[in-house]
Amino acid sequence: MRIIEIDVRSALQNSGLRELDYSLNPYLGCMHRCLYCYAMDMTKDERAADDWGSTIIVKRNILDVLRRELPHKKRGTVGISTITDPYQPIEFRYRLTRRSMEMLLRDGFRISIQTKSPLVARDLDLFARYPEMVDVGITITTANPEKARAIETQSPSPEARRRALSMLTDAGIRTWIFYGPIIRGFNDGDVDIEGIAEMASATGSRIIFDAFTRYPRAAKLMSAAGIRPLPADMESMVPRIREICNRHKVECHSEDEDYLSEKARINRTLF
Ligand code: SF4
Repeated sequence: MRIIEIDVRSALQNSGLRELDYSLNPYLGCMHRCLYCYAMDMTKDERAADDWGSTIIVKRNILDVLRRELPHKKRGTVGISTITDPYQPIEFRYRLTRRSMEMLLRDGFRISIQTKSPLVARDLDLFARYPEMVDVGITITTANPEKARAIETQSPSPEARRRALSMLTDAGIRTWIFYGPIIRGFNDGDVDIEGIAEMASATGSRIIFDAFTRYPRAAKLMSAAGIRPLPADMESMVPRIREICNRHKVECHSEDEDYLSEKARINRTLF
């Protein structure tokens, strides 16, 4: 593993996503090394992009930069993170995710976390102080550990992720499972959807689903591993997902639907 420390000039970026006002990525590159990862093609530092999973860039001055930026930023929702996993193993050592979130929450920013790591449960004490300001999404593409290992090559097991979700919901934190990317011919079978719905039901999480989008670097890694996705066919998928979710009494949304439903919920909470 190659760790490179750099200094940055900004910490919060405009996210470019309608559900998030800002993104915060304390690291570039990701030790979880998922073969389908779109972030490979979004990461401008080629040292990390070209050596995905083995080179991590650490923004060592991000806390100082964030401290200077915050008084000048309009309050909003910060995505943690959008092109890296904020709780990949390097976070044990640097704690940049934890310390950034402490500052953000103290200053009145909402945070929306997405990760594949049970390390997120380490920060329960922080989330419990701001339960209305935090939601946590854990990506689970399949409940089958062998399939997960084939495609999320260095990520924690689906069962470890499920346990983390339970800890979070037990502590009153709003949680969701990101069932995505859905790769046609790989994790789109009824048995896959059933496994995700069971985990969502057991952990009191809603599901957000999305199809695989083909980016060049991800396509190359998947092809090298012998995984050749068929073109996405969400029209036939969505009714099956809804039927299975309904049966398990689990709330289940596409990304668009979830944006609208969360916006309405937050407005109801505020007014
Ligand atoms: S955990 Fe997320 S950021 Fe990391 S490799 Fe997997 S998909 Fe990419």
